Amino acid sequence: MPPTIQSKQPHAGTTIFTVMSVLAAQHNAINLGQGFPDFSMDEELTSLVCTAMKNGHNQYVHMNGLLQLRESIAEKINFLYNNPVDPETAITVTPGGTYAIYTALTTILQPGDEVIVFEPAYDSYIPTIEINGAVPVIIPLRFPGYSIDWDLVKKKISTKTKAILLNSPHNPTGSILGANDIEQLKDVVRGTNIFIVSDEVYEHLIFDGLQHESMLRHPELFERSFVCFSFGKTYHCTGWKIGYCVAPGAMMGEFRKIHQFNSFSCNSTVQFALADFLKQRDKYLQLGSFLQQKRDYFEKLMQQTKFKALPSYGSYFQLYRYDGLSDESEKDFAIRLTKEYKVTAIPTSVFYKEGTDNKVLRFCFAKKEATLEAAVNRLMKL
Ligand code: PMP
Repeated sequence: MPPTIQSKQPHAGTTIFTVMSVLAAQHNAINLGQGFPDFSMDEELTSLVCTAMKNGHNQYVHMNGLLQLRESIAEKINFLYNNPVDPETAITVTPGGTYAIYTALTTILQPGDEVIVFEPAYDSYIPTIEINGAVPVIIPLRFPGYSIDWDLVKKKISTKTKAILLNSPHNPTGSILGANDIEQLKDVVRGTNIFIVSDEVYEHLIFDGLQHESMLRHPELFERSFVCFSFGKTYHCTGWKIGYCVAPGAMMGEFRKIHQFNSFSCNSTVQFALADFLKQRDKYLQLGSFLQQKRDYFEKLMQQTKFKALPSYGSYFQLYRYDGLSDESEKDFAIRLTKEYKVTAIPTSVFYKEGTDNKVLRFCFAKKEATLEAAVNRLMKL
């Protein structure tokens, strides 16, 4: 008899993204569910990778990340957020944004600690907190604007609160933190021992001329923050799984103690390529308007359907209400859409621990115009 495992995640199933992507493939549906672009990435970046590989950059790089890449990241941070972080001590390159979040939480959490999490929430947050023996304290964002109820946050803070987990621009809602949120956050954490873990993987995908309120922009917040990023999102290469974390030196020192015994270092070749590519500011500066055009194009097409758009200010996603169309639960409706209308979207209820169902689906608009047109043609039949 093989030994049995006492599961650390007894209630976890296969993530909905995998479930819906498999269903989409089975039914030959257009997949606007999972958040990945279907257009090609920048060829200059792929050729930089080829060159790096041919030039023999195929061995381990430093466990904190290739220094040239960390220097390029530091230069970008100083340019965008006016924060001169030290590439030696404050930046670690990671195999993706999710890993950075996992490592940051594992670095700070002790059993019994509480972490404030806002729902709907990206699916890795709560399991990561629980795997570390800590307790998620869940606060719903206010429907339908998905803003933070700061009075409720103040009520939920306790002596056990170890961290607040933030995500802006936000998956799945496309909401963003504004100047008022930043002031409220400063008020909440001032004089406490609370850390901030900030998921900013969509930092450049922000629309309508709005400013990304990075923790890196606010020294009073950065002094207690682990700020997590993903090159996959920035450069349309989600399959590369490469990102980084930025934190003040002493905090990053502890982060690296966890990191060195997990992945230790990550893909060397793409780090050489990214170190060069990151120097071209226009490549990341134009991302917001590029994705904004896609959001606008999709939203305009969707006006021909009975779906009702909720505003998206950033990310790859927009939420659409369907309460005028069906009484079905989000999951049932999303499955029927895939099977009968051959378009896949994600039920927003899966981003809530208790499955809150507001009759809202998440669509990914980071697709070619032809893909968006074909999907909406099918949705018009509803
Ligand atoms: N955070 C959020 C909010 C995301 O949507 C994603 C990607 N789905 C990630 C983190 C993960 O990024 P990566 O693929 O680099 O791990």
